[in-house]
Amino acid sequence: MIIAKVDAFPLRIPVKRGSTADAAAWGDKGLPAADSLIIRVTTDDGLEGWGEAFGFRAVSSAKLAVEELIAPLCIGRDATRIAPLMFDLHKTLHIFGRGGPLAYGVSAVDIALWDIAGKAANAPVHRLLGGGRADLPCYASLNRFSDPRLIGAETRRALDSGFRSLKLHETELSAVRAAREEVGPDVELMLDVNCAWTLNEARTKAEELKQIRLKWLEEPLWPPEDYDGLAELRRTSGIRIAAGENVSTLMDFGRLMTAGAVDFVQPSPAKMGGISELAKVFPIAAVHDVAVMIHSFYDGPGLLAAIHVAAALGTADAMIEWRHFDLEAQLYGGALSPGHGRISVPQGPGLGIEPDQNVIRTYLRV
Ligand SMILES: [Mg+2]
Repeated sequence: MIIAKVDAFPLRIPVKRGSTADAAAWGDKGLPAADSLIIRVTTDDGLEGWGEAFGFRAVSSAKLAVEELIAPLCIGRDATRIAPLMFDLHKTLHIFGRGGPLAYGVSAVDIALWDIAGKAANAPVHRLLGGGRADLPCYASLNRFSDPRLIGAETRRALDSGFRSLKLHETELSAVRAAREEVGPDVELMLDVNCAWTLNEARTKAEELKQIRLKWLEEPLWPPEDYDGLAELRRTSGIRIAAGENVSTLMDFGRLMTAGAVDFVQPSPAKMGGISELAKVFPIAAVHDVAVMIHSFYDGPGLLAAIHVAAALGTADAMIEWRHFDLEAQLYGGALSPGHGRISVPQGPGLGIEPDQNVIRTYLRV
């Protein structure tokens, strides 16, 4: 099985008009659509594997990296030898950066090759990793709203869809308080501020955040690589800290955990090297007694990769992040949908579900 072709499909799926997500404000930019980059690897005997690169504003850059730098190194290589190909990609391309859109493109190809490996073995990816659970708990990852009334309505909507664990992306504590008041004391709340604060700013908010009783506080500090700052905040505040979606390499995951920076580590399969690198984070986390909560802010193969790996390697409390957006369409339609706060692990070969070609055709960004 030789890699014959690597194709990249940039997608833009708008949020539904009039939905709560339509009213959301992500920072000051708004988020009117979900942009993603889907990759298809085709072998000379006709097998197809699907991967995903981290999207949003990086889609065009990742597409260029795939087409100009990554694909030429993949074509003609043996699709059944993922590790040596990934080693060569990481090593050959390291001079152009160890993270960012280039790494997102490499991640997408890795995920696609695992999809192909599963299809060739007629087994789901989780079985290739040793075997997985049939379903996983998941949490609703909400858009940013800023307005306490809107966040109240959106948390209610997530509870009504069966979630009992919610993640907010608010930076104003009034909005976080409003969410806690809406959901009551028994629902798990996480808060992701996407690197909003300095250590001193975070310290001044710690007492109030503690009263809101978060399961974790995610990426509190700028810059994300301030592992010592995270460790200090974690030690002095007593708040459990999560981070890792912006960590690019295995060495840095080691440093993050050695620093004592996190209670929950969040490797992101479509950013940090795909299934191959993601699987390596688990033994490091076990050594440091850190829980792995995979970052899966995706709708496509990136999400499926997270599900298969969590099902096979995750601890009993590992949760899947489900993007609680109201989009016009989903890449997998109704084939992948949580119920009562749990999600079924696909059992078909490879990633287990094929993307809907109509969705790709309709939302292809040209
Ligand atoms: Mg996050």
